[in-house]
Amino acid sequence: MVKEKRHEELSKLRDEIRNVTLDIIDKVHKRMELSERIGTIKGNLNIEIEDEKVEQEVRGSVTELSHKLGIDPAFSGRLLNIMLMESIRLQQIQQKKPESTPSEYTHLSVFSKAKELESSGKKIIHLEVGEPDYPPPRMIKKALIESYNKKLYHYTDSRGLPKLRQAIAKKVGNGITHDEVIVTSGGRFAIFSAILSILKPGEEVISIDPAWPAYREFVDFAGGKIKTLETTLEEKWTPDIRQLEAMISEHTKVIILNYPNNPTGKVLDEKYITKIISLAKDNGLYMISDEVYSDYAFKRFTSLTHYKYDKSIVVSSFSKSCAMTGFRVGYGIAKKEIIDKMARVQAIALTSVAEPMQHAALSAIDYNPAGNVKLIKERLDLISEKLCNMSFDFITPEGAMYVYPRLRGLIQNDVILVEKLLNLGVAVAPGSGFGENYKQFMRISACQPKKLLERGLEVIKSIMLKH
Ligand code: PLP
Repeated sequence: MVKEKRHEELSKLRDEIRNVTLDIIDKVHKRMELSERIGTIKGNLNIEIEDEKVEQEVRGSVTELSHKLGIDPAFSGRLLNIMLMESIRLQQIQQKKPESTPSEYTHLSVFSKAKELESSGKKIIHLEVGEPDYPPPRMIKKALIESYNKKLYHYTDSRGLPKLRQAIAKKVGNGITHDEVIVTSGGRFAIFSAILSILKPGEEVISIDPAWPAYREFVDFAGGKIKTLETTLEEKWTPDIRQLEAMISEHTKVIILNYPNNPTGKVLDEKYITKIISLAKDNGLYMISDEVYSDYAFKRFTSLTHYKYDKSIVVSSFSKSCAMTGFRVGYGIAKKEIIDKMARVQAIALTSVAEPMQHAALSAIDYNPAGNVKLIKERLDLISEKLCNMSFDFITPEGAMYVYPRLRGLIQNDVILVEKLLNLGVAVAPGSGFGENYKQFMRISACQPKKLLERGLEVIKSIMLKH
């Protein structure tokens, strides 16, 4: 009898919960309709879709109500973020703006366009790509042959070959053990798997613009919300720490750093890094430090591994230092618990990095990139000198492989400039590919021989001086 009653009650409660869920969906639908109406008005008035102040007001009310009702404000905040992101998406569709990508033009889309033009017979100077033009270390050829001969071409532990992880741990130093290393498919997958491991939908990630566009794509893909702290050429691309502090909310989960920086060439001074880590510590935030250009630092650069922050994930790669982009070997350094989560993502997506490629990377572990670094530095100096003679405004790169000057003359739109230059046989990356408010910039890569760099810069000069 008691059992029957319980079953009856359960079934009643299930009906009720279903109805409440349907009510919620109905309310969400109403919210979307309102959002679309707001979008139409914003479009007519030419007002920006995102309004931080209005968002903060709604967030405040939701937090207050959550406290009153006894709901976890972090949970209701995540729900709110999901609804806010959907509103933005709907309004972008309505105003026919591209979703989430800040610009339809990035260094990659210019590269595809340039390749298309090349296939139709046009000669192109590639100043848009971030891929070394010099060969990888010789020893990897032997390692690849050996790996074939010794039948070392199987699945491996998702975290990578223990030998390679040990070698990376030793190279990184700072007391890192192989448990704190994961070998990933490029630095790219280390960052992606880190974000998928630690971010819940609706949570926020702070990245510093201008930035490699993949960070935004990773966060969007994970259902998170990217918040960008904009830096300026006037401030030498140094982030404003107070502004950063003001951006941190109870929904913030991660801060992403990338020094030496793509695209600006900035290497942030230690005192700022220390302040950012202290903010992360005070707020319990993870830090992802993308250090794929760390070998190309022309002033003192201290890896985040040195700071021993237990919520940091440091990412590096064989791609740039060893010119091994196509081998797809990178790595992440973090506490074992984080590494295990990242390994799960890698196991689901890829099983492991291809074993022969891991042997190739192992053979290159002690490779000295000094020659490559010197070559890139010389080319960056050449580009800087030429740009300076043309009165461009930029910071002389302190690291990485790029110069990021502000446009001058009459062409003040990067996409127009990119189109014109492509027609003249020169490909550069548009500034807005690294953040929507950088339309007045372009990125010039030093991954070409000096002769081609000089020729490309002459074409840039001819366009700039004409106007
Ligand atoms: N991070 C930055 C800033 C980059 O510019 C790149 C590639 O261009 C990567 C990460 C990824 O490098 P990979 O996946 O080849 O290691």
